[in-house]
Amino acid sequence: MKLGPYQFLFNPIFVTLLLFQFSLKFGHSCPSRGGLYRRNSRKPLYLKQRVPDVEEFSIKASGKSQGKITRNSSKFNTLVSCYSTDIVFKDEEGTGADRIMSKRLREKLRILAKKVKEKWRGSTRLRVIEAWDEDGTHSAHSLHYEGRAVDITTSDLDKQKYPELGRLAVEAGFDWVFYESQEHIHASVYDYKGQKEPWKGCFTANAKVVLEGGKRIPIKNVKPGQKVQSLDDQGKIAFSEVLLFLDFDPWAQNKSFVIIETEKPFKRLALTKNHLIFYKTTNSSESLAKVKLAGLVKIGEYLMVDHEGILMASRVSTVDTGIRNGMIAPLTTHGNLFVDGVLASCYSEVTNHHLAHMAFSPVRFVKKFAPGLLKKMDISVEQRGLHWFARFLIWLNKLFGIADFASNF
Ligand SMILES: [Zn+2]
Repeated sequence: MKLGPYQFLFNPIFVTLLLFQFSLKFGHSCPSRGGLYRRNSRKPLYLKQRVPDVEEFSIKASGKSQGKITRNSSKFNTLVSCYSTDIVFKDEEGTGADRIMSKRLREKLRILAKKVKEKWRGSTRLRVIEAWDEDGTHSAHSLHYEGRAVDITTSDLDKQKYPELGRLAVEAGFDWVFYESQEHIHASVYDYKGQKEPWKGCFTANAKVVLEGGKRIPIKNVKPGQKVQSLDDQGKIAFSEVLLFLDFDPWAQNKSFVIIETEKPFKRLALTKNHLIFYKTTNSSESLAKVKLAGLVKIGEYLMVDHEGILMASRVSTVDTGIRNGMIAPLTTHGNLFVDGVLASCYSEVTNHHLAHMAFSPVRFVKKFAPGLLKKMDISVEQRGLHWFARFLIWLNKLFGIADFASNF
């Protein structure tokens, strides 16, 4: 961890003020609280439907335009070409421009192409009408100019299939999907500038947490305001309120997870390798639990587990990787929680749990002194992906380089 002259930026009051401004900016643009995005997401799209139902440039969707990329701009190097044989490219320009796109767009397109193939059993493929546009045929700030947007159809041009194609695009993980016209679906992605996504580390959608009262439920079904089993400041098992979801994407598919098993008692936890977890090198009750990235946990170390309400150190017997679905990361008041009986941090990517916990102190501050504002911050009804506050902290950090990220990890 390096604490530069900008450490004051993580001062709770300072950040709360910024946060307040931010929530004024974004809070009001929230779609109605009754939005049923989460429930409706698996239905075919209807004409003009947007998922999520916000403006494309919203931070909750694909975010602002970063400026046109031309063949001469330095950013052109950040674009990649897509040569998937599962995709038909219209390439009306004859320049191959439609194959050029951002990395993230290509990743999502490839996932979608597979889904299209599966859905129509190979008889129909995904067709790209337009991706990167260098001819200026779109509106002024179109994400097509940055290779972050794509217009798609099915290869057979069967318009009956487009509602389903839209649904599959949502599932594939595009940050914004718009059933723009009867002729095509428009989909776009957030600009991560090829960087890692700090605080984007997660548990699988079906991992279980324990609610106050003892009920075990899948983490994807937890609602902000509910209390989940965690560790309090005295190191006792307690129940801690879920404030919001740092990340919420139960539809994310085929994600890579570290799977850690412990013996006596047996526990199995899957989490992304950049997620922080508590561990000990011995099971002596004297030793204090430390925190590290899940991907660095070794056999023979100890994880902190819940054994019938008692906190125990349980020896790691296997560490493996596997593919699982869903990416969920709740933020609790205490900054930790038990998932599948194993104590984990709420944070990821940053290497310092305490710094991350401090960075999110404004959320706790808001909960205490302005619960109404916290309600506004709960976007879980229509959230997909990172919460804007997490993105805001990423932006702050990018600006001032406060926390160390596990960038070489
Ligand atoms: Zn478009």
